[in-house]
Amino acid sequence: MKRLLLLVAAVTAIAAQAQSFPGSKPITIVVPFAAGGPTDRVARDLAEAMRKPMGGVSILVDNAAGAGGSIGANKVAKAVADGHTLLLHHIGMATMPTLVRNLPFKVETDFEYLGMVNDVPMTLIGRPSLPANNFKELTAWIKDNNGKINLGNAGIGAASHLCGLMFQNALKTDMTTVPYKGTGPAMTDLIGGQIDLLCDQTTNTSGQIEAKKVKAYAVTTAKRLTTPALKDLPTLNESGLKGFEVTIWHGLYAPKGTPADVLAKLNAALKAALKDPDFIKKQEGLGAVVVTDKRVEPAEHKKFVADEIAKWSPILKAAGVYAD
Ligand code: ASP
Repeated sequence: MKRLLLLVAAVTAIAAQAQSFPGSKPITIVVPFAAGGPTDRVARDLAEAMRKPMGGVSILVDNAAGAGGSIGANKVAKAVADGHTLLLHHIGMATMPTLVRNLPFKVETDFEYLGMVNDVPMTLIGRPSLPANNFKELTAWIKDNNGKINLGNAGIGAASHLCGLMFQNALKTDMTTVPYKGTGPAMTDLIGGQIDLLCDQTTNTSGQIEAKKVKAYAVTTAKRLTTPALKDLPTLNESGLKGFEVTIWHGLYAPKGTPADVLAKLNAALKAALKDPDFIKKQEGLGAVVVTDKRVEPAEHKKFVADEIAKWSPILKAAGVYAD
């Protein structure tokens, strides 16, 4: 009898917690890369847009950066599943399972999928002092400087790593990769001339391209972009790298086992944020496209990530680069 009463009390407590979620306790969105970078930017804009639909509770951003995004993802996989710790991650959720040998969590089973946020093109950019002024000149410069070129990235499994691999494979060249905890700090070094090239999301590069702080060579999408700062850039495909296409996407996750009512509240707040005109405007200004399709539904988000794992796995295996 005593046991039964305890069980009833525990179930009632969980139900009450779900009902009162989020209460006054802040929600933290973990970003698995450094502050000041493109994923961080999306997370901060999203946190602001979700605050009102979440009843005004504080939504903080925690940069748990390192190891190509796997440290932050692991932190959330192991966090208390009460809806107060979330993860904003990108295409790394689809590349890490292939690229990281001893990944300490399972993308497929250690998370609740809350819905997708946006699709973001990448751009190939260079340090301001780089002599090449367009993609044709860049390929000639790469040929002339074979073995001496530094390419920044955010570690194995990061979007910049994926794009850099594809770029080197397409050109049949080998560059020295310089890993950072995120492309925020990589951008600082590119502008300072410490590295030569970087492939990064437009949520980090559009402002620097517009301000002419870096040289921009191409976009990684199938079609040219319409964002004013980026509309004159050719695609890599039209520049001669036939079939080159990579778009980065972001999704929101909670630890496995988060109560269903809490997940429903978070998904509703995400959907409201994705319809917020200010959020849409900010994202569009950075070249990102806010998700309006069925991928805002958790089941479709999960299916999309599984499809992306299947799509990228053979390509990454062929490249033969792994992290332990
Ligand atoms: N753009 C980075 C990447 O390459 C991550 C970041 O700093 O947001 O994955």
